[in-house]
Amino acid sequence: MTPDLALAELLAGNQRFAQGQPTAANPIEERTKHVAGQAPVAAVIRCADSRVAPEIVFDQPLGNLFVCGVAGNIPTPEIVESIEYAVAHLGTTLIVVMGHSNCGAVTAALTSEVVDGLFAQVALAPTPDLDDCIAHNAEQGISTLLNRSVMIEEAVKNGLVQIVAGVQDIATGNFELVAQTQLN
Ligand SMILES: [Zn+2]
Repeated sequence: MTPDLALAELLAGNQRFAQGQPTAANPIEERTKHVAGQAPVAAVIRCADSRVAPEIVFDQPLGNLFVCGVAGNIPTPEIVESIEYAVAHLGTTLIVVMGHSNCGAVTAALTSEVVDGLFAQVALAPTPDLDDCIAHNAEQGISTLLNRSVMIEEAVKNGLVQIVAGVQDIATGNFELVAQTQLN
């Protein structure tokens, strides 16, 4: 599947979720198919927040999303390696950095006097506005991925993979794109 088609699939699923009309199902007969392998439509870097769940928010069944999660949806080295696996071995062409409104990790990075550990990796916007920082942190996830993985950078340059960043609005359910790599 091309990155464009994969993104269209996810955004259509998000519309269904936001409107309260999800269609994704996981019938028993599909399990046999999953045993044979996986070919996820997209890889997602999500925040650990319990209100964020890519399979639900993008209305996708098992087998469609390769999901990695950590507070603040930061592409840590371990997450980058996992995403490389999806690109190299599972044929994933779309990578989604998924931020969300009211993110506690970004709030901690923004408001704490002393920020260390994982929260120190949250990329804050120039302005101390939480929503701006959440969007900026998701967008910076693209740069971090590209900087930490030559393999992913090459795949993007060659037009094989696209990375997008967006923010899930907890209240409306809408996932809004804030940045994306350009396809050749
Ligand atoms: Zn969060």
